[in-house]
Amino acid sequence: MRRILIVGAGQAGLHLAVGLLRNGYDVTVVSNRTPDDIRGGRVMSSQAMFGTALGHERALGLDLWADACPPIDGIELTVPGPGGDRAIHWAARLDTPARSVDQRLKMPAWMGEVERLGGKIVIQDATVEDLETYAAQHDLVVVAAGKGPIASLFGRDAARSPYDTPQRALALTYVTGLTPRPEHSAVCFNLIPGVGEYFVFPALTVGGPCEIMVFEGLPGGPMDCWADVRTPAEHLARSRWILETFLPWEAERCGGVELTDGGGVLSGRFAPVVRRPVATLPSGAAILGAGDVVVLNDPITGQGANNAAKCATAYLDAILEHGARPFDAAWMERAFERYWRDARHVTAWTNALLAPPPPHVLEILQAAGRSPEVASRFVNGFDDPSDYAGWFMDPAGARDYLARTGS
Ligand SMILES: Cc1cc2nc3c(=O)[nH]c(=O)nc-3n(C[C@H](O)[C@H](O)[C@H](O)COP(=O)(O)OP(=O)(O)OC[C@H]3O[C@@H](n4cnc5c(N)ncnc54)[C@H](O)[C@@H]3O)c2cc1C
Repeated sequence: MRRILIVGAGQAGLHLAVGLLRNGYDVTVVSNRTPDDIRGGRVMSSQAMFGTALGHERALGLDLWADACPPIDGIELTVPGPGGDRAIHWAARLDTPARSVDQRLKMPAWMGEVERLGGKIVIQDATVEDLETYAAQHDLVVVAAGKGPIASLFGRDAARSPYDTPQRALALTYVTGLTPRPEHSAVCFNLIPGVGEYFVFPALTVGGPCEIMVFEGLPGGPMDCWADVRTPAEHLARSRWILETFLPWEAERCGGVELTDGGGVLSGRFAPVVRRPVATLPSGAAILGAGDVVVLNDPITGQGANNAAKCATAYLDAILEHGARPFDAAWMERAFERYWRDARHVTAWTNALLAPPPPHVLEILQAAGRSPEVASRFVNGFDDPSDYAGWFMDPAGARDYLARTGS
């Protein structure tokens, strides 16, 4: 039986662990937090996941909240005009609903699933010395430690990382009591030129259904406003201030909102980065990075948890296909490239949305307001961003497509 050790009990690490356990591997997951630490701690993400990634979870029996979690049926896009009106405003349905299950709920349950399937959970903040020990005792070590400092063992891939500073000041506010959209549920995505983005959507948190507000402020701009916020109540008040100032139609939905719990707020920032998939320990042993360790994108497109599930799936397939052969550095590179074939589109699109929109993107967003076909294609690209390569990411392709659809 092949022995595999995974550092990090998050979306990528636990998904891979369960996949391996279901295929007869000996699996150990090292987590620097206990299930209770995670459950009782602060929110980490808004973790909206689309059809393909949810399908990967379902295939492993990991969709434990399919009934309890409210579906996200579509995406609504709004761009405020200079006069405070809605210059662009439309919505379209997703072919398959998206869902967001608070990682404080999900990860402890998945850790239980790992143990139920015969895997081991070790509570330890893994260091380089620990990695040496793990590598000596296991056939493969995978580091899925998210934004943890240990990720810096994996070198930055400058050619794949156009930014070296944070591009947004991020904040999350988990609330109850938000007025639902009348037509169907949606990620309501507001793009405020020169200020940032705000999106809000239904989710399931530790206490039941909720809505998650996500703020993406341009650094130094008016939505980069969290530094002096000291308490969850102040955080909620600042969230309301942003909506009242820039998005009155969103503020109107928030008359009765309350925080879900004291841990339902987060603020921070990080630079997006793609790292090299293989790190070499001082002993010469090679280890493989997964999830955010290797592809860390800004959350503006809500793709990191989706990517983590897709990475776990690609690595699982690569491990199973490799059989009893050694997991050397060349195999690790190939396993990552298998994931990167998709992830490169996600990364290119996400990085593009962090820059001011070029004319062809504004044309697409306006055309989507007139053409349900364009709106549907844009919205469903969140599930498979590789579709954007031929149009959203390509001015000539965009104009051809818009001409063909008569929009
Ligand atoms: C504000 C915000 C909003 C987001 N919204 C979305 C969204 O809507 N949709 C989406 O798809 N993605 C979203 N994401 C991104 C998504 O949450 C991440 O990409 C995803 O969780 C990454 O999974 P992972 O397994 O790589 O890392 P993580 O989920 O971060 O898991 C890593 C785990 O490793 C542990 N760890 C770290 N260091 C060590 C160590 N040395 N030893 C042991 N354990 C260690 C950590 O404690 C953690 O439990 C968002 C992120 C942010 C910040």
